[in-house]
Amino acid sequence: MDRNIPENSGKPDLLDVYFFRNLVKNRFFKPSLNFIILIFLSVIVYSGLKSEPDLRFPGSNPFATTMIWDLWHPLLAFTVILFGRLWCFACPIGAVGDWVQSVFSFNKKYPEKYRNLWIAVVLFLFIFAAERHLFMFTRNPVSTAYLLLFFTALAVVMGIVYEKRSFCRYICPIGLVLGIFSMLSAIELRCKSRKTCHDHDIKECIVGAEAGKPCPVDEFPQTMERNNTCIMCMECVKSCSKENIRLSPRIPGADIIHSRKKYLPEAYLIHGMIVIFLFVMGMERFEFRNTIIGFVRSTLPIDSITFLQLYWRNMWAIIIFALITLGAIGLMYVSARASFHGTQPKNKFIELSYAFIPLSLSVYLAENTFRLLKGIFFITAETGALFGKVWGFAINFETINQLQLVFLTLGFLFTIWAGYLISKRRSRNRKEILQGIIAVDFAAVVYLIIGFKILTLPII
Ligand code: SF4
Ligand code: SF4
Repeated sequence: MDRNIPENSGKPDLLDVYFFRNLVKNRFFKPSLNFIILIFLSVIVYSGLKSEPDLRFPGSNPFATTMIWDLWHPLLAFTVILFGRLWCFACPIGAVGDWVQSVFSFNKKYPEKYRNLWIAVVLFLFIFAAERHLFMFTRNPVSTAYLLLFFTALAVVMGIVYEKRSFCRYICPIGLVLGIFSMLSAIELRCKSRKTCHDHDIKECIVGAEAGKPCPVDEFPQTMERNNTCIMCMECVKSCSKENIRLSPRIPGADIIHSRKKYLPEAYLIHGMIVIFLFVMGMERFEFRNTIIGFVRSTLPIDSITFLQLYWRNMWAIIIFALITLGAIGLMYVSARASFHGTQPKNKFIELSYAFIPLSLSVYLAENTFRLLKGIFFITAETGALFGKVWGFAINFETINQLQLVFLTLGFLFTIWAGYLISKRRSRNRKEILQGIIAVDFAAVVYLIIGFKILTLPII
């Protein structure tokens, strides 16, 4: 057994609170929850398909777009710090893939060369890049419904072809983002005692047992050191006859400091999300948007063909997103390279990039603030209407702007702190610690300046 790995036993366990362990072990609880949410998802899809394809058209129904883009998506962003990937426990899309798989599957192994997160990263960037000019998900109930159907179909096909939850592990963009941000979360699922795992001759969490399936994402509780991959399905809670799994509160952000598992696609997306969501918030500001649109129009070869304009803009959206993401990666890479003479800058870049997760989450929250308020006001107004009351609230852009600046500043401060802690933990001497701090601080200050520049522009 690795002596460097500390024992975890003795930590408080939320599964011991009242009947919680029995509840998650109950074989009907999770499928029932998945099924109820699946019905709700079907209503959203049905409503989206029946609506006009643009919320600006008369007769359009905002139910699907409001539920997905103004409530579900912002709520995930705002609750990930508390609950990590707990949404994955309830997710009906993964569950449908699972149900189909339990009836029929070729059970192939997912190809080795694709066992990384690049496909999920590209899907995430593509969805947000194509959002504005091609699919317009946030204001198009029909394309929102098709997006949900697309991911459900993908989960089903992958469930049929491949074993376990390959879709959740390697493809789902929401799983990817929740995985990265769950490194900050205030809960963790781990084994209680690594010695118990080590001494256990039949590792039921891996091979499965009558009470529970083998871990669907190939995690092994004895060696788990970060939240990213675990989809909180609770199968190991059911299968472990030693009752050796715990769900514990902890200091938020523990994984980004302590985990040694750090990967290039995640590092790439951490920076990508900062610049992309700053750019998206820029497009909500008159001056910034006019500059970008003016530039894109100036490159259009023929002025008068509408469909060409649409695809031309979309092409530029993808190019701009790819370029600003690469620019952000380049900034951090150059910063790491300049700071660490002689050591491997690529590894340092990956390692230190995890310090930017707080900044990445803060920008993500800032971008979702407006949507969440919009969604809550919509629900409030609809509930009021049910009782014949007028419960209308107007969105105050000034307050939202200030909230966005607060998020950005807090994210910046946590990133500086995380950069210091990661450098301290991973460096061999004071010089290396200082190099790490300089690399993180330099890139973080550049992001902060760009963020403040964009967020202080007058909003639309
Ligand atoms: S079944 Fe339980 S005790 Fe055994 S290895 Fe898995 S988590 Fe550890
Ligand atoms: S079996 Fe356990 S470790 Fe594996 S995904 Fe489910 S909850 Fe996480």
